[in-house]
Amino acid sequence: MSEKLLKFISLDRRAPQTRDVAERSGDFAEIYDDFRPAGAADQAARCSQCGIPFCQVHCPLGNDIPDWLMLTANGRLEEAYAVASATNTFPEICGRICPQDRLCEGNCVIEKDFDAVTIGAVESHIVETAFAQGWVKPPRPRRELGQSVGVIGGGPAGLAAADRLRRAGYAITVYDRHDRIGGLLIYGIPNFKLDKHVVARRVRLFEEAGIVFHTDFEVGVRESFEAVAARHDALLVATGVYGALDMAMPGSGLANIVPALDYLISSNRKGFGDPVPAFDSGALDAKGKQVVVIGGGDTGMDCVRTALRQGADSVTCLYRRDRKNMPGSQREVGHAMEEGVHFEWLATPEAFLGGDAVSGVRALRMRLGAPDAEGRQSPRPIPDSSFTLPCDLAIKALGFEAEDLPAAFAAPRLKLTRHGTLKVTGHSRMTSLDGVFAAGDITRGASLVVWAIKEGRDAADGIDAYLRAKTRAVA
Ligand code: FAD
Ligand code: SF4
Ligand code: SF4
Repeated sequence: MSEKLLKFISLDRRAPQTRDVAERSGDFAEIYDDFRPAGAADQAARCSQCGIPFCQVHCPLGNDIPDWLMLTANGRLEEAYAVASATNTFPEICGRICPQDRLCEGNCVIEKDFDAVTIGAVESHIVETAFAQGWVKPPRPRRELGQSVGVIGGGPAGLAAADRLRRAGYAITVYDRHDRIGGLLIYGIPNFKLDKHVVARRVRLFEEAGIVFHTDFEVGVRESFEAVAARHDALLVATGVYGALDMAMPGSGLANIVPALDYLISSNRKGFGDPVPAFDSGALDAKGKQVVVIGGGDTGMDCVRTALRQGADSVTCLYRRDRKNMPGSQREVGHAMEEGVHFEWLATPEAFLGGDAVSGVRALRMRLGAPDAEGRQSPRPIPDSSFTLPCDLAIKALGFEAEDLPAAFAAPRLKLTRHGTLKVTGHSRMTSLDGVFAAGDITRGASLVVWAIKEGRDAADGIDAYLRAKTRAVA
């Protein structure tokens, strides 16, 4: 083993420097600086090159983490980039926004006695270096196969599939209802976690490789699903999940109670400099307001931190379980706390109060009961424990479910799971319709970018196998 490794004994874990809290909570720029080259090499050298690398086992993409860490420790960054990009379409994005504490880093075996290797930040450092050095190329094919694949949805699942299929030689057209490509990478996740230029940079490479993007193109509205399907030899549905979950309670109809995604989309659009009437009128602007965000997932954390950056007077997160049981990344919760968000753990809203517009949220204290089948403790209300929070903007971040896609696509033979997501067959990811495949949140339910990438890549392989078999049958 290289003498440059096993430094975990002598060297502490270090993430790249975060910007000063006061400075970063006043703007939307990313909060981390990149590693300096020596910092990345040192941190990579903490890896002990385990025989069974649990980091890799718990990475949904099965990334060859020990190899790229070894190469980075030895200054061989071009090879590290080749390894990192062999299994991941967007390593620079995963390095930034994967919840590493639950995935690779949370399972790094040196963690018990020493802190985990800083895997995510090294991953993005490798790719940032590769972009700076010009090693990242458009996914151009060696030869054209003369068959075309349509991709509905330009989020990470659709793009991961488009990249892989284009490299294989298929003509690719991506349809998206938004005016920019990227799905939730553009219009959900805020800039302070993932700078939009990081996404746009990849989309430019896809365009250079000949992938055609049709934006402002909602399949089922602009053109029927059937008509789009008829234009291609195979189709991938990667439309994500956008049905916002809600809770019925008194006062729900008051003004200034908004769904999380409306709020985040408007903030992201402002970041692009777009005109956003609902923001400019003040309805979706947290400036000077007492903001209450309901929900403790990644979406909730993005809302609280966005509200702070917009200049809210106060920001409170109401969550019905405790910190340990929050579904979102602990790292993001930590950032929100540092930046000044107030958390009301073990509290659930009972009613919105106010005249025309919301002026308060009445909430009830909870306690945790016995663990459920998945080991999560269910929250139980504590009688007579109501309290009221002042609030003039309430943001509901309660999660998402799939919309009725067979109805939206007028495709009743498109089968669903009992969760309302699209049913697919095993690894091939074909739906109940011949030649129609699906990947990402629309099959998995609201999940993670890394899983969307994994499923998009698997679907690409399924489509490739399907089209090759079809070609052989014709020949
Ligand atoms: P999406 O990214 O949702 O893309 C689907 C695309 O399909 C969209 O562009 C949509 O416009 C388009 N579309 C839908 N219907 C049609 C139609 N009929 N015609 C044409 N186009 C259509 N994951 C992480 O790993 N880390 C995080 O930090 C993180 N933070 C998040 C923060 C927020 C606020 C949210 C909402 C999610 C977050 N996630 C995070 C989850 C992650 O963004 C998703 O799991 C991932 O984007 C799913 O990818 P996808 O390609 O399946 O769908
Ligand atoms: Fe870790 Fe995500 Fe990178 Fe896998 S893709 S190594 S889980 S940061
Ligand atoms: Fe290196 Fe940790 Fe992975 Fe082991 S589990 S190979 S120490 S990163």
